[in-house]
Amino acid sequence: MVHCDSRRLGSRIGVLLSACALFGPTIAEGIEPAAPRRSAFRAQNAEEAAAWRAASRAELFRLMRMEDQIAAHRLDNQGRSALTLDARSLSTEPSPRGRFARHEIEIASRPDRRIRVVVTIPTNASPRATPAVVCIHGHGGNRNIVHDPSSPYRGFATALAESGYVTLSTDVGQHEVQGAERTLMGERLWDLMRVVDLAASRPEVDPRRIGCGGLSLGGEMAMWLGAMDERIAATVSSGFLTTMENLRVGHCMCWDFPGLQEGYEFADIYSLTSPRALQCQNGLRERLPGGFPIELAERAMADIRRAYRADERLDRVQLATHAEGHVFDVAFGKAFFDTMLGPSDSR
Ligand SMILES: [Zn+2]
Repeated sequence: MVHCDSRRLGSRIGVLLSACALFGPTIAEGIEPAAPRRSAFRAQNAEEAAAWRAASRAELFRLMRMEDQIAAHRLDNQGRSALTLDARSLSTEPSPRGRFARHEIEIASRPDRRIRVVVTIPTNASPRATPAVVCIHGHGGNRNIVHDPSSPYRGFATALAESGYVTLSTDVGQHEVQGAERTLMGERLWDLMRVVDLAASRPEVDPRRIGCGGLSLGGEMAMWLGAMDERIAATVSSGFLTTMENLRVGHCMCWDFPGLQEGYEFADIYSLTSPRALQCQNGLRERLPGGFPIELAERAMADIRRAYRADERLDRVQLATHAEGHVFDVAFGKAFFDTMLGPSDSR
């Protein structure tokens, strides 16, 4: 998109020059290409791509120990799950400017696990006509921080709520597995799928216009949710696109689980989102070395584009490069949701 490129050019030159001066060769030059992955995307056309996605989702749900949950998760034609949410409203309050109401709702993620979700509902939302976005925080955050304009999330959830979106956020930062038979990543993903269940159950929400977005670990979980839950029509994954080689150094290893690295790169996981809409955001002032450098993001995006090219949907994928560091770019994200989920109904 033009607005992405126009914003990146000037500052990018300066950042790259300073990176070279400090560290010699760029980060990308210092990292060997990854070895071929067993289940990597290799499809040449849409039919082969669809078969790869179905097989890969089945394998990944198995590796994340979610097979029984997915089998029980049966959806109707409106995207509503057969599993009961047992939703309970804990509190409701109007937003300061009266554009939306903030609800704290508790749902059953599993029969033995209840989670809290902050849900914002636009004032005067029309039945089954409102887009919704699941807003996801990263390490050290919680379900409220995506509404904080002074945080790295820049209050993107509030920006969407004030523009007429339903927003939903829950806590995904746990590092201890709750169920002995599960995996950490599987539990985080399942909680988020249950939040999508809550979105699809809301009378205001158009179930064809549900998106997700997040930063850092939240960008990672947006990747997983967009990849594995086909109800997600648009994904904004900020501050995460990179390679596994890079994420093995200086990062929390909670992204890993047995079998993942043998089969897949992150570009393959993102490729599961095709042909649905995907924006990845990376900042030019990411921490170097480490962080999520733009050179590696561009390399990974080239791989992701192969999937969208096979589906003939290159218009639905983009790398939005912004001039800041490890933050969520609200303008890029909101513009993408507006384009891909359609205009919200209360503006
Ligand atoms: Zn972690």
